[in-house]
Amino acid sequence: MVADALISRLERAIGTDSVVVGEEAAMAGAGGWGRVGKPAAILKPATTQAVSEALKICHQYSVPVAPWGGRTGLVAGGWADREIALSLEKMNKVEVVDPDSASMVVQAGCPLQAACEAAEAQNLFFPLDLGSRGSATIGGNIATNAGGNRVIRYGMMRENVLGLEVVLADGTVVSALHHLIKNNAGYDLKQMFIGSEGTLGVVTRAVLRLRPLPQSQDVAVAAVNDFSSLPHLLHRLERQLGGRLSAFEVMWADFYSLVTTAPANGRPPLPAGRPYYVLIEALGADPGPDAQTFQEALGSALEAGEIADAVIAKDQAERDALWALRDDVGQVARNGPVLTFDVSLSISQMQAYVAEVKAALHTWKPGTSLVVFGHLGDGNLHLIVGASPLDHYDVESIVYRPLRDRLGSISAEHGVGLDKRAWLWVTRSAEEVEVMRAVKRALDPMNILNPGKIFEVSVGGAAVFS
Ligand code: ZN
Repeated sequence: MVADALISRLERAIGTDSVVVGEEAAMAGAGGWGRVGKPAAILKPATTQAVSEALKICHQYSVPVAPWGGRTGLVAGGWADREIALSLEKMNKVEVVDPDSASMVVQAGCPLQAACEAAEAQNLFFPLDLGSRGSATIGGNIATNAGGNRVIRYGMMRENVLGLEVVLADGTVVSALHHLIKNNAGYDLKQMFIGSEGTLGVVTRAVLRLRPLPQSQDVAVAAVNDFSSLPHLLHRLERQLGGRLSAFEVMWADFYSLVTTAPANGRPPLPAGRPYYVLIEALGADPGPDAQTFQEALGSALEAGEIADAVIAKDQAERDALWALRDDVGQVARNGPVLTFDVSLSISQMQAYVAEVKAALHTWKPGTSLVVFGHLGDGNLHLIVGASPLDHYDVESIVYRPLRDRLGSISAEHGVGLDKRAWLWVTRSAEEVEVMRAVKRALDPMNILNPGKIFEVSVGGAAVFS
């Protein structure tokens, strides 16, 4: 049987203890955030060389392989039902932190939080910050170009990667572990792999850019009475905080009430009843003066009528408590099943867009709940619709179609995976998708790397396990 021959070749190549099959493989994805199906086998290579050997064999057999990071994705990008999953969990080390070049070399399976802590131990800062920081891995963050809470200041993952080591579908190792901020010697290949969702290559190691560890952190929650004040407030803070604004997270009233009332642990730092609440954070180098500038900026926003009320955290416990509200996203599912969306559009279009979606949902099924929050400074909204997964097409249609004319995106930061593939046309032209397919065909002619994710490609790997 092909499957048996393939598994024994893989076992010989990377070691029996690095190949998981049977019930153990099938159950591996149960209970996690990300849906992955029931893999026929999970490969756990411990070195780049072993990743290369494994892919070489799968390529020969023309067998699909789904690369896995921390499996915290929300778009079924790691779906590997009756396929082979390639987990980087054994490659989980921080290899070097180099204070002189302000960079670190990290293996792909290293959890984000562990990478951040290793940087901090050297008084440096890796700024990517996500709710799933404890499980999400650096390789997964790179493959999905993760965003999160501090993009407004530090950019998404692609702005924080200096070099990459990637294994191609046929096992070729492409090593470009440069520590350079400036490198215009030809195409910037790493950017092609960043955000490619495991369809072009498997990230094995990366050089990450580090920043000075902030010495001050000022956090506030402000209440805002009308949407049109939000962009004014945002621009005022960017101006008055001298580039230190690191988060501008808006919570619509419904979200605020979910995360500040039982059974949530959080309590309202400001009374409920306003339409918008903004979590504002600034990171800086000089605690005393930074706190004063922060207070003054909020004071002038209050005077200008851009905010109705604000509370500034006085100590670390209060700062953490304010952030915990924004991070308590799990509350959105407490009243029943929900469908989660991650869209982006220009801030000037948001109010009309949300109103349109809300009205369409009520026409579709009166009483459908819509909870909104997001990284407003990045034009990124998360919409949570109270609806059954069975209704996903109807709801997707309501949420995604209005983005087309507004030149918005169906995915700001979660990626496309399997879940959003049918809606790629809303955001990407036929020509754009054809260029993407051409790149895919050039790098993975057998279509074995995460096939079917983002878009379909006509050639396909063999389904040896079904
Ligand atoms: Zn987000």
